[in-house]
Amino acid sequence: MGKGSRRGLAALKAPATCADTGTLASRGSGVGVRGFRMVRAANAVAIATAVLLSAAGPAAASDVSDAIGAQQRVERRIERLTHRSKIRERRLRRAVVRAERGNDARPGPQTLSALGATRRTERNFGRWAASSLRALEERHDELESWLYSWGIFRVCPVDGPRYIHDDFGETVTVGDAPPHIHRGSDVEAPTWTPIRAPFDGYAWASSSPYGGYQIRVRGDRGYVFIAHLIGYGDLGWVSAGTTVGYVGDTGLSTAPHAHVEWHPWNGGAVDPYYLLRLSCG
Ligand SMILES: [Zn+2]
Repeated sequence: MGKGSRRGLAALKAPATCADTGTLASRGSGVGVRGFRMVRAANAVAIATAVLLSAAGPAAASDVSDAIGAQQRVERRIERLTHRSKIRERRLRRAVVRAERGNDARPGPQTLSALGATRRTERNFGRWAASSLRALEERHDELESWLYSWGIFRVCPVDGPRYIHDDFGETVTVGDAPPHIHRGSDVEAPTWTPIRAPFDGYAWASSSPYGGYQIRVRGDRGYVFIAHLIGYGDLGWVSAGTTVGYVGDTGLSTAPHAHVEWHPWNGGAVDPYYLLRLSCG
């Protein structure tokens, strides 16, 4: 989704207000969106490498999908190399066996040198294939560990058009709810916008007076909690990208939006804004 449509949505809609949201209008006006540095990388592998080498976080929202793409390409290359080198190794082995037989049948300097050359070719290819595979696997591990740090949300949990508010930690005073701290980011989107599992995991539903219809998706590194749904999608074991529910404004909410919390290691909520920006682009 382009920057314009995000701004457009934010401008058209009144700030969402939910049970745990207070001062959206003061901070969630889109400065972060406009100020966000968009970097388009021509070469996904190059940017992922640059990010890795600098040992820093992602430079742009597209970096996570670039890294996922780069990782898939590396995986395909590993598969192809493994497959082709197996075939080539078998052929070279047969050539060596033939040369050995030839040398046994007609011993002499010529057949001996032919045997030596065939063995060298086999050995060199084996070395080359092993070192190529090692390099690709190292690259794969680098990308994997980079994604482990930054690509927690493999898929944006709310489809577009949407507007992500940077409102974690604000004091909420709304309705008859006691003032409290906002533990998530509010993502504005039209009613019935699909809500997706951001990672592989287990999804289950609950409800509360403030959160309305709620969903949690637990993955191997923690869980997301999303509130104010109008309906549920697939529950139980889900893959990244599965529709687990739909945006609504149930519970204490004054506009359709998804209240998104991120609980790493199933502990307390931490600010999900950066992860949302990375996965939602
Ligand atoms: Zn909220």
